[in-house]
Amino acid sequence: SVLVVGSVNADVTVRAARIPAPGETVLGEEARVSPGGKGANQAVAAALAGSSVTLCGAVGRDTFRAPALSGLTRAGVDLAGLHELDAPTGLALITVAASGENAITVASGANARVTSAHLPTDLSGFTHLLLQNELPSEVNREAARRAHAAGLTVLHNAAPARQAPMEQPDPELLAHTHHLIVNEHELAAFASGGGEALETQARALLTRGPRAVTVTLGAQGSLTVTADAVDRLPAFPVTPVDTTGAGDTFCGVLTAWLAQGHPLPTALHAAGVAAALACTRPGAQDAMPDRAEIAAALAR
Ligand code: ADP
Repeated sequence: SVLVVGSVNADVTVRAARIPAPGETVLGEEARVSPGGKGANQAVAAALAGSSVTLCGAVGRDTFRAPALSGLTRAGVDLAGLHELDAPTGLALITVAASGENAITVASGANARVTSAHLPTDLSGFTHLLLQNELPSEVNREAARRAHAAGLTVLHNAAPARQAPMEQPDPELLAHTHHLIVNEHELAAFASGGGEALETQARALLTRGPRAVTVTLGAQGSLTVTADAVDRLPAFPVTPVDTTGAGDTFCGVLTAWLAQGHPLPTALHAAGVAAALACTRPGAQDAMPDRAEIAAALAR
């Protein structure tokens, strides 16, 4: 079973003609409130894919708590590790322009108040830990350290990229990570800046802890390197309408399939198909496929 330690947000999205310039006010349409946060998104993707998933994280006791948790509850994620803190629920303020571009401000709120004291002490029921970059880095480091020591497989989606150069990727977290998942932009945060090919950059990370590194490449699919193999997977062909949550779907489904005992190439294939399906519908958690839809697409 899968433990996700990560962020929980309510996403407030407004469509407007364009993204406001500094000092400007733009009138938009009705605001839509939906569940988000990379931790919650990935937990939902893994649960819909058929895994037993527990989320460790935090929300507040405010009005955004219920919308933030709605998708997790519906997907059957175990919220035994969720803490209610005296801080506002995390909030993402999203403006979507008519051009399709977006601008996002994240108010971390309760997510920033998570500490190592909130981590579950008993990890014996879990086989896989999945982390992202939306909780304080010391929480990630401690979660990975304990999980590694307890024999779990640790997956880390290093998204969003830490704001370089102030915050470099944590070498200790990397050392406790078995499988690192990044997009091209996030990979650059780990690279030495020599402009090497993606495969070379990814391979260099294998000396720093991970035994697998996956680079997601949007409509180009993904590239995974391990000590003895390179797996280039083209994207599953779809007509995308909204790619929000594609990366989160990929990470959640990859972890779910590995936890269900599938070999890495099979799990990567399922993750790519699921992420593509998530691009065919608007939204993040609302757009994620379930186990039956993934199986049907794989059989095509
Ligand atoms: P992120 O959203 O985190 O930047 P990517 O854009 O790399 O992540 O997308 C993650 C995964 O989603 C890709 O590896 C791919 O499998 C799938 N995906 C993304 N965009 C498309 C697309 N246009 N068509 C098919 N699959 C896609």
